[in-house]
Amino acid sequence: AWAKVRGRLRDEVGEAAFRSWLKPLTLVGLNNGQVRLAVPTRFMRDWVISNYSDRLRALWASEDGALKGVEIVVRSSPTRAPLVGAGKAFNEEPADDDADALAQGNITPVAEAKRDGYDDISAPLDPRSTFESFVVGQPNELAYAAARRVAEAGSVAFNPLFLYGGVGLGKTHLMHSIAWHVRQRSPQKKVIYLSAEKFMYQFIRALRTKDTVAFKDQFRSVDVLMIDDVQFIGGRESTQEEFFHTFNALVDQSRQVVVSADKSPSNLEGVEERMRSRLGWGLVAEIDSTNYELRLGILQSKAEQMKCNVSLKVLEFLAHKITSNVRELEGALNRITAHATLVGRPVTLETAQEVLHDLLHANARRLTIEEIQRKVAQHFNIRHADMLSARRARAVARPRQVAMYLSKQLTSRSLPEIGRRFGGRDHTTVMHAVRKIDELRGLDAGFADEVDLLRRMLEN
Ligand code: ADP
Ligand code: MG
Repeated sequence: AWAKVRGRLRDEVGEAAFRSWLKPLTLVGLNNGQVRLAVPTRFMRDWVISNYSDRLRALWASEDGALKGVEIVVRSSPTRAPLVGAGKAFNEEPADDDADALAQGNITPVAEAKRDGYDDISAPLDPRSTFESFVVGQPNELAYAAARRVAEAGSVAFNPLFLYGGVGLGKTHLMHSIAWHVRQRSPQKKVIYLSAEKFMYQFIRALRTKDTVAFKDQFRSVDVLMIDDVQFIGGRESTQEEFFHTFNALVDQSRQVVVSADKSPSNLEGVEERMRSRLGWGLVAEIDSTNYELRLGILQSKAEQMKCNVSLKVLEFLAHKITSNVRELEGALNRITAHATLVGRPVTLETAQEVLHDLLHANARRLTIEEIQRKVAQHFNIRHADMLSARRARAVARPRQVAMYLSKQLTSRSLPEIGRRFGGRDHTTVMHAVRKIDELRGLDAGFADEVDLLRRMLEN
C-alpha cells in the first residue's frame, strides 16, 4: 500500500515537491491500522504534517480500508544515510564548529587572520531586508519557511537551499534576512552574501594577482555562503569550475550554501550539467509571482512602516493594477506618498490614477498606435501606409480619423504624440478627428456600432 500511496502522492504534488518532502518518508511501522512514517528532521515532520497529512491519510485510506491513522515521527537514530540523494542534507547533527574545522586543517591561518574582515568580500546588506519585514503569502511561503529554517538551524538543514523566481519577487530580501539573522544570533559565524557577478570578479582578480589560494580559503572557511543571481555565472567556465569546487568543499564540510537564480537549476542556461544537477540536490524553492492577497499584504505592511496614511481603497486599487513585481509595487506606493506629502492632502483614487499613469499603463496590456492603425486599415480595406499619408480622399481620411479617435481612447498618448505617429500631423488635426467621429457616432447608429466593434476587438 505504501508504494501505491507514494506513487499517487508523487503524481499529485509534482516531482519537485515530492523529492523535497515526501521521498524521504519511510514506513517504520504498521500496527492495528496505525501507520507510522519517519522523516529525518523535525522541520520536515512539521512541514509534512501541515501540508500533506490530509492527503496522506486520504490516499492511504483508499488503499487500505482498515486504516485508523497516520503518524509522522522524526527518525530517531542520527543516521548518515543519504537522504533525498543529497548526501548530508537534512542532517540534524550539529555542524562542525571552528575548533573542529581548524583541527581538520580547513581554516588556514591566512583565512583566520582575515576573519574579521569578511565584510570586504560580503556585499553590504540592506537593513530593511529582514524576516520581520517580509510578508508571507502563498506564492513565497515555501521559500520563506526554508530560509527561516536555514537561518535558525544550528545545523545544516538542506544543502544547498536554492531559491528561484522572477525579478523583484524577494530572493535577495530573503538572503539578506538569513544573513542578518545569523549575524545577530551567532556573531562568531562567518556569513558571506554576494552576487554571482561579484564572486566572478573576485575570482578573476585573484587569478590576476595569483592569489587564488587566499581566494579559496576565504570562501572555504565560511559557515554560510550565499550567492545571489547565479544565472550570471552561466557560460564562464573557469568561474563555474571554481564555484563548483568551492561549493562542494563547503557542502562536504556541512557548511550551509544558499543560492538564488531566476530559473530552476535544470533550466539554468550555460551552466554545466553536473553543476545544475548538484544545485538541485538540496531544497529547491520557487517564489511564484505575487497574487492579489500578497500584494495587498505587502502594501499594507509598507504603508504602516512608512507611517503614511493611504486609504485601503487606494491600496486595493494598487494591488489590483500593479501586478508585475514587488519592486514596482513599492515604487508606486512611494510615489503616491511623496505626492500626498507635497500637496498636503490624502490621496484619492483619482489622484492615484493620475500619479501612476505610466506605471498603470505599463502593467496593462500595451496597445500601440501602430496596432490600432493596422487593425483599422485592415477593417476598412486600405493600406497601413494610407494612415500616414497625406491623401485626403474620404475613403482613407475617414478610417484615419477612426484610428486617431481610437488611439486617443485606448492609449495614454497625448494629442501631439498621436499626430506625430500619423505621418507627422498637428495635434489640432487629431482633435478635429476625435470631434468628427463623436459627431458621426451621434448621427449614425450603424457607424457607432462599427467603431465600438473595432474598439472591442482591439481591447481583447
Ligand atoms: P529579487 O531579488 O527576487 O529580484 P528583491 O528581494 O530585491 O527581489 O525584492 C524587490 C523589492 O521588493 C525589495 O525592496 C524587497 O524588500 C521587496 N519585497 C519582495 N518581496 C517582499 C515580501 N514578500 N515582503 C516585503 N517586501 C518584499
Ligand atoms: Mg535580487
